[in-house]
Amino acid sequence: MTVEFISVGTEILLGNIVNTNAAYLSEQCAALGLSCYHQSVVGDNEERLEEAVRQALSRSDILILSGGLGPTKDDLTKEVVAKVFGKELYEDTHTKERIEAYFKRVRSEQVTPNNWKQAMVPEGAKVVDNHNGTAPGLIMEEDGKTAILLPGPPNEIKPMFERDIAPYLNRLQPEGIYSKMVKICSIGESKAETMVADLMDAQTNPTIAPYAKTGEVHFRVTAKAASPKEAKKLFAPLMDELFGRFGDKIYTTEEEVTLEAAIVSLLEDDKMTLTTAESCTGGLLAGRIMNVAGASNVYREGYITYSNDAKERLLGVKRETLMQYGAVSAQTAEEMARGAAKAAGADAALSVTGIAGPAGGTPEKPVGLVYVGCYVKGHVRVEEFHFTGNRDKNREFAVARALTLLRE
Ligand code: ATP
Ligand code: MG
Repeated sequence: MTVEFISVGTEILLGNIVNTNAAYLSEQCAALGLSCYHQSVVGDNEERLEEAVRQALSRSDILILSGGLGPTKDDLTKEVVAKVFGKELYEDTHTKERIEAYFKRVRSEQVTPNNWKQAMVPEGAKVVDNHNGTAPGLIMEEDGKTAILLPGPPNEIKPMFERDIAPYLNRLQPEGIYSKMVKICSIGESKAETMVADLMDAQTNPTIAPYAKTGEVHFRVTAKAASPKEAKKLFAPLMDELFGRFGDKIYTTEEEVTLEAAIVSLLEDDKMTLTTAESCTGGLLAGRIMNVAGASNVYREGYITYSNDAKERLLGVKRETLMQYGAVSAQTAEEMARGAAKAAGADAALSVTGIAGPAGGTPEKPVGLVYVGCYVKGHVRVEEFHFTGNRDKNREFAVARALTLLRE
């Protein structure tokens, strides 16, 4: 089935707000196995919105609109879609009561008269309760076409989509959609995509699609199947193929498992503790590890040693090393990792030292040069990287590489 999106709002056209709803809806609908070939943005203008709605319904099975459901005059999504479907609006008692209750609970105030506009719904429309705002979502079906009207604010559209719209879309499809996320580390994105190019070309069911993620490669594998059992059967040969090609570079096939979570659980299994010594990443690496609930089982303390002095004092990096090779060097990364492990009494330590940019680079040591040290029970491995992003990206990449190195 095909789905199409219209984001309504003049402020999106003017660039005053970024159209994050479109990105969100695209990703969600792709995960549900719906094909999307068109998206558009229309200002708060009745004629142009009507034209866009008619065109969208003429070429797509499902149209999802976001925004323009508010109480003000310029909010006219519902009125326009009702007109296109040839429906009148009536006051929905249930929605009226919900809005009243919402105002009492959240705003402790009386409803303003224009809010009653939000209780008006088109005949025959399914009303979807909004638990985070006043405007209800609406689903209208006619002649095999479906229009879904959702509120604009991201904190309203997301919970509504997850709670009610995704299950509804799933039911619309004759078969269920099942998906797995194959997450891979220790390999570059373009190399990984080349390695599955033939599978992507040949795909029908299941399908395989790459997802962008800094320092890792994710592939979403989606199957249409009548039952979970059938989905499992469909997944099996493709999964075997992927494991054959990537081996243990695949760290999980579960959507919710992150690289840091996979590493924390590996350390837990081996009853090992971990510490970190960071220069240019300034705590970002420790932060990733702390994302994992239960990280305290493996991580007790870490070090942010930005200056040379701190590297010497807290980690025992030798002054001669810093003088001779510099703070950004394999030697310093190695001593940082050893020093951190010793200071924290940990079995493993990761160290990061580099030039994140934008300034500070030299011809010998350009921006993006990063050394990552990985200490495990007396042995240190140091890797040199040359990242080409901006400061933020370089730091993110350095963290991803450090985590990956520990996993290897
Ligand atoms: P309201 O009841 O707040 O008026 P609404 O359903 O009428 O909600 P809009 O008036 O179109 O929605 O937008 C309200 C706010 O929601 C915008 O100011 C903006 O912050 C956010 N918003 C709307 N559309 C989008 C979008 N496509 N992407 C991200 N944010 C959006
Ligand atoms: Mg509005």
